[in-house]
Amino acid sequence: MSAPFRILLYYRYTQVDDPEGFAGEQQELCEKLGLRGRIIVAAEGINGTVSGEVVATEAYMEAMNADPRLAGIVFKVDPADEHSFKKLSVKVRPEIVTLQLGGGGDIDPAAVTGRRLAPAEFYAAMKQEGTLVLDGRNKYESDLGHFKGAVCPEVENFRDFPEWIRENLADAKDRTILTYCTGGIRCEKLSGFLLKEGFRNVAQLDGGIVSYGQDPEVQGRDFEGQCYVFDSRIGVPVNGTNPTVVAACRICGKSSEHYVNCAWKPCNCRIFLCFSCEKEAGRFCSDECGRLAGGR
Ligand SMILES: [Zn+2]
Ligand SMILES: [Zn+2]
Repeated sequence: MSAPFRILLYYRYTQVDDPEGFAGEQQELCEKLGLRGRIIVAAEGINGTVSGEVVATEAYMEAMNADPRLAGIVFKVDPADEHSFKKLSVKVRPEIVTLQLGGGGDIDPAAVTGRRLAPAEFYAAMKQEGTLVLDGRNKYESDLGHFKGAVCPEVENFRDFPEWIRENLADAKDRTILTYCTGGIRCEKLSGFLLKEGFRNVAQLDGGIVSYGQDPEVQGRDFEGQCYVFDSRIGVPVNGTNPTVVAACRICGKSSEHYVNCAWKPCNCRIFLCFSCEKEAGRFCSDECGRLAGGR
C-alpha cells in the first residue's frame, strides 16, 4: 500500500517584488490544502518544506507550477505515514538562506554559482584525485552523516561559512572544490561565494543529498550515516548501496543514530545516545547536566 502522506522539499531563487503579499498567498494556499511545514519567502525567492496528504501535495505542486515565477520548480518528494510537522509557519526574511554578507557582497546565484553536477557526475568527481569535498551544512547536521572523506566545518550557522572558509581553505584555491548540502539551496550561494573568493574550480551537487539518495544510478553511494532533515524525522537514510553509521553514543561509544537534546533545558545540546544508556543515565549530555536537572 502506498503512503497516505508526502513531504515536499523545494526552493527557487527568483525575484519576488512583494514578499509580504507572496507570503500571504502561501499561507492561504497551505491552509486551504491542510499542509504543514516551514516556508521562507524573501525578495530573492522561496524555500520550503511541507507535509500533507498526497492529493493536497499534488494540488500544491500544481499551483506552484502555475505561478510564472515558479514554473518548473523542482520538488523532492518523500512518502510518509503522517504529517512531519506540528504546524504551518510562513515567514518573510531578508534572505531565503542566510549568508549575511551584506554591503553589496551578497551572492546572487543567477549571476555567480558553481557548476551543477548531477548525482553520477558528482560521484565521479569525488573520485578524482586532489578533489576537496566540502560539506555545506552545520556541524550538527554533518555529525549524523556526510560524504566519505568530506571536510565538515565546525560551524553552527550557515552565515559562519565565509569566515570559516577564509580561515581554513585559503591554501585550497587551486583545488577542485565540490560542495553539497541537504537539497541544494545552500550550495547555490556557497559555491558562488567560493568563486568570488578566488577559488578556480567549484562545483555543487545539484539537488543535494536528497536527490543523490534518490538517484537510481548512484543510490547514495559513499554517503556515510543519515541525512539530517528539519522535520520530525530528524534523520533519513540516503545510502542504498554501502551504508554505514558514523554517529556514536556519547556515553558508551556504541554506534547510534538516536539524536536527542540534553534534557537539562539551559544546556539543550544535541547528542547521540544509545537506548540503553538513555534508559540508565537519562537523556543528558553529561553527569553535570544530569545533576543540575535534579535528583542525580
Ligand atoms: Zn550508550
Ligand atoms: Zn547538557
